[in-house]
Amino acid sequence: MAVLPEVAVYWEKDVETMERGALEALQLERLRDTVRHAVNSPYYGPRLQQQGLSADSIRSLADIRALPLTEKQHLRATYPYGMVAVPRDWLVRMHHSSGTTGMATAVFHTAGDIDRWSNLLARSLYMAGLRPGDVFQNMMGYGLFTGGLGLHYGAERLGCLVLPTGVGNSHRQVQFMKIFGTTGVHIIPSYALSLVRVFAEAGIDPVADLPLRIAVLGAEPHSEQARRKIEQAWGVTAFNCYGLSEICGPGVAFECPQQQGLHIWEDCHLVEVLDPVTREPVPEGQRGELVITTLTREAMPLLRYCTKDLTAITSAPCPCGRTHRRLARITGRTDDMLIVKGVNLFPIQIEQALMGMPEVGQSYLIVIDRENYVDRLTVQVEITERMFTGEPAELEALQARIAHALREETMVTPRVELVEPGTLPRTEGKAVRVVDKRGD
Ligand code: ADP
Ligand code: ZN
Repeated sequence: MAVLPEVAVYWEKDVETMERGALEALQLERLRDTVRHAVNSPYYGPRLQQQGLSADSIRSLADIRALPLTEKQHLRATYPYGMVAVPRDWLVRMHHSSGTTGMATAVFHTAGDIDRWSNLLARSLYMAGLRPGDVFQNMMGYGLFTGGLGLHYGAERLGCLVLPTGVGNSHRQVQFMKIFGTTGVHIIPSYALSLVRVFAEAGIDPVADLPLRIAVLGAEPHSEQARRKIEQAWGVTAFNCYGLSEICGPGVAFECPQQQGLHIWEDCHLVEVLDPVTREPVPEGQRGELVITTLTREAMPLLRYCTKDLTAITSAPCPCGRTHRRLARITGRTDDMLIVKGVNLFPIQIEQALMGMPEVGQSYLIVIDRENYVDRLTVQVEITERMFTGEPAELEALQARIAHALREETMVTPRVELVEPGTLPRTEGKAVRVVDKRGD
């Protein structure tokens, strides 16, 4: 009987399935190297010296808590070159964060950094099921934003044919999918939802007419319900991809085919989950702020970088065989928290309640203002075409159902406005989900 060749499911089996003890030993060695190297940056050098910290201070991974936390404001204060730990002529690339929450930060890479980052993305895309020969349409902004070039290099490294279409020009995007036989895409989830209408306008049924199999979704928080909506409408399996410019970009953590959390690539990143206020570690499984130390960055090593992103970590074994721990879906940043009538809520809670309803279309907008000095929460919801042209009584019933679901989820009673499909403002980058008029 012929022996079938083993089907490779890993890009780098030895690293991805490394026994925990060995992985942690590798992390410790790399952490010590990182501290040794960080001393070369104008920012960390004096700081570590003042506190009497060096690689010798780190004898176990737990000793990381002796190191200072690094905040986005430190990157801003040392802008542009203050965090660089190598001679200027080693730098080959600069990226900028999107500046979603204020002044953007500049991030530099050496050739080695780009090489390792590309490899992490090739590893991630391979894990999602992409293979050489796949046609990968990278619908993310090229340029300063890391989503474009980051995935571009990763998909090329893997051996895909990459279509660097960038964002926008939606009609051409869907035509390209048909002409070139796109099998995988990388796209911002809110843009993936808004393209559903463009497919319809172009008379293309992505499920029946296109060979699409895989969507990589990243750059903004999105709910499980939104993922399922995209999967159904596009006929794909969708994978959550997390990253941030300061750490490298997309590919810091990525979902495996189990779709039960994102494997954080621990050979390159050491992660902690801390209480955002006390900055003490939270117990495993509990949500907190993700704090990342880079383990292989040359140009700009970062020690205990506070991402402000909220997630939880699990070390439960994953059936895929990878030993790198998993992060829960990122539900937003600490800054995204809204306080409405004294109640704390996150936009993602509203999305979860909305996107599970089949009558709801592709977009929504949260508006907060004040009426008679009292906060007022309005949620504008695009509904499906069929629903929009339906009976007024049906619309009223839907409005009441949405208000009820939102109240259950958030403890705040909103006003719900149902709007025509395609009428809420669209962005080509990260979606703007909240308009807060209380400061006006
Ligand atoms: P900025 O911080 O200015 O938006 P970046 O472009 O570097 O700059 O964006 C990184 C941020 O985007 C992350 O810190 C996180 O808040 C968000 N993000 C990226 N990927 C995801 C994801 N898969 N899920 C949720 N949020 C994400
Ligand atoms: Zn897995």
